[in-house]
Amino acid sequence: MDTRIVKINQDFPQPEILEEASVLLRQGELVAFPTETVYGLGGNALDETAAARIYAAKGRPSDNPLIVHIAEEEQVYELAGQIPAYAESLMKAFWPGPLTLILKKKSCVPDTTTGGLDTVAVRMPSHPVARELIRQSGVMIAAPSANASGRPSPTRAEHVAEDLSGRIAMILDGGEVGIGIESTIVDVTGTMPVILRPGYINRAMLEAVTGSVTVDPAILEKPQAGLRPKAPGMMYRHYAPRGELTIFEGEQSSVVARINAAAKEKTAGGYRVGIIATEETKNAYHYGWIISIGERSNESTIARNLYHVLRKMDEADMEIIFCEAFHTEAMGAAIMNRLCKAAGYRIEQVS
Ligand code: AMP
Ligand code: MG
Repeated sequence: MDTRIVKINQDFPQPEILEEASVLLRQGELVAFPTETVYGLGGNALDETAAARIYAAKGRPSDNPLIVHIAEEEQVYELAGQIPAYAESLMKAFWPGPLTLILKKKSCVPDTTTGGLDTVAVRMPSHPVARELIRQSGVMIAAPSANASGRPSPTRAEHVAEDLSGRIAMILDGGEVGIGIESTIVDVTGTMPVILRPGYINRAMLEAVTGSVTVDPAILEKPQAGLRPKAPGMMYRHYAPRGELTIFEGEQSSVVARINAAAKEKTAGGYRVGIIATEETKNAYHYGWIISIGERSNESTIARNLYHVLRKMDEADMEIIFCEAFHTEAMGAAIMNRLCKAAGYRIEQVS
């Protein structure tokens, strides 16, 4: 299949381009498009064949459900029932935006879309291309991240093309995304919200709206037998570069010294070594291929560059990758969750 890649204005998407994408979506074809979090791989959420195509294009395990994207709040009532009042408060506060809610599904949502679960994940994105595409097509769009399963999520159209060219009908290129990390997922089927995946909307922001919020204990540490994450996707090795990534935690100068020593040793051993540094530390490293993720003091840049930098390491065929930890103020939980998974939980404490 030829994949058509079309540039689209990210603030004022051209209706004629949206129409071309809409026709494809209505026919059950797949279209990748930018959202405020990462690029999504869209297909008709209520069409079983389209949903099955999404899994096939990504090589995604069929028990890893998809998020359904809507353009208007009312659409959530077509997809889900038994919606608690506190969930509606969260919608009012954060939609449109990077918040996904897990709700009891209605029968119109096919099992293929929900991976056989009796719940459905729903989000109303704020990105103009995403919203206008849902609106103009009249299709509620199931859209996981538009990467090949297991690879870092795409934050630019080029990343989507790398992974999915030839496998999908169209890519809408709206440039670089704003946030760069997938949506916060919150289970609202119980009496209290439970965070299943951390994201830009953090625990404190949620608690400011609904009071107490808990976090699925399975996502805080390395997956163990007996502790299954409630979001099936959090179980898989994910977000990962091909090289072996290790994270170093500790005081900055000690971390730099430790990474320098490790990079010196591995370089001498003949390995291709990459270092993920910051603007503040990049000149302090002396071995391997050094790439800056941005200023440590600017956590939105770190989040936005994370997947791009991991992909760069792949492009340069790095076999061993060392990275500083980023326990930043607001998005630290989300950044470290993705980084730890990418590292297969290889974390070294430096004292
Ligand atoms: P992605 O599409 O890459 O953003 O991944 C979607 C995430 O949403 C995965 O981690 C899924 O496991 C999770 N998800 C989707 N639907 C549900 C659901 N009904 N219950 C729990 N998690 C879900
Ligand atoms: Mg994904």
